[in-house]
Amino acid sequence: MKKWIPYGRQTINDADIAAVIDVLHSNFLTTGPKVAEFEERVAEYCGVAHGVAVSSGTAALHCAMHALGIGPGDEVIVPSITFAATSNSVLYQGGTPVFADVDPETLLISPDSVAAKVTPATRAIVGVDYAGQPCEWAELRTIANKHKLSIVADACHAIGATYMGQRVGALADMSVFSFHPVKHIATGEGGMVVTDNPTFDEKARAFRGHGITSDFSGREASGEWSYEMVELGFNYRLTDIQSALGISQMARLDNNLARRRAIAVAYAAAFEGTPIHPLTVRDDCEHAYHLYVVRVPDRDRCFAMLRDAGIGVNVHYIPVHYHPYYRKRLGTGKGMCPAAEDAYTEILSLPMYPDMTDTDIETIVSRTLQAVER
Ligand SMILES: *Cc1c(COP(=O)(O)O)cnc(C)c1O
Repeated sequence: MKKWIPYGRQTINDADIAAVIDVLHSNFLTTGPKVAEFEERVAEYCGVAHGVAVSSGTAALHCAMHALGIGPGDEVIVPSITFAATSNSVLYQGGTPVFADVDPETLLISPDSVAAKVTPATRAIVGVDYAGQPCEWAELRTIANKHKLSIVADACHAIGATYMGQRVGALADMSVFSFHPVKHIATGEGGMVVTDNPTFDEKARAFRGHGITSDFSGREASGEWSYEMVELGFNYRLTDIQSALGISQMARLDNNLARRRAIAVAYAAAFEGTPIHPLTVRDDCEHAYHLYVVRVPDRDRCFAMLRDAGIGVNVHYIPVHYHPYYRKRLGTGKGMCPAAEDAYTEILSLPMYPDMTDTDIETIVSRTLQAVER
């Protein structure tokens, strides 16, 4: 059988497995010491004060929208090229996502488009650090300050990336990570909100646990039996089992990022002067390479040929404003975000994950070059 090279996959070692087994032998399967340790570990890595671990990146986005107090009548500007969860989180709160176009070179939310979409109802901007490259946060911050808006980073692709020397996680008012198996840290399902703002931390923390203000271990430690439900929240908790897996993987994050960057260098060198055009990487940042996205002529044919050759290429993403649900609910459609729509016809995500071998890279490169030959 032909070897299948997926577009992304987790990296699990014996230490990760041992960490999970330890938790299974312990007193806490959920909301024990490992959750707090994982939160501290990620917040510290990002250089921020607080982390709130939750059950998915989507839950983290929902917590962030709740913490901002987004509700009916509020508009939140989001990019059109992203995973649907980014804008869905605005809808969960009854708010209205407004799609901004992307920069055609990077596919990051375009500050000019954002500025053009601000209305008196706008409350926040969500930037997506697409593929692992940080947004133009300084420009977004200028727009946010001018109109008194909050900014949220959907950094699900970008833990470990830096922008002007600062780590992702510390660049927006709140930043959101996903720990889905294709992302840098894999806890099965999982996510986190990180922030320097104690109010956002408190609100997100209550929201993940039914809107109740303190967790079980806190109550036991202080000897109190009473608790108060102050808001309507959800059960968005991450377990200790998952947190132990996350903590164990955090130790390898920088090594894995280095490998991803080395793979990107190899791809870029191989595609130089060919019809395969990698997205532009700005020199004010260090990319985290969750994805390696190229623009290719005749993308659909290229996609089919590569899939046929056992290479699990993918397309990230169908512009969100194209989805039937959005068309129906918000009346979105073709023509709203021309750069995103144009890019969508050409983009292809090549495999990118730390355990790829150099032989895998050679196979992918030669097959991709073959696929664009006429
Ligand atoms: C993965 C991802 C999410 C959602 O994360 P889940 O953990 O799968 O819920 C949200 N936004 C972006 C950009 C993502 O890539």
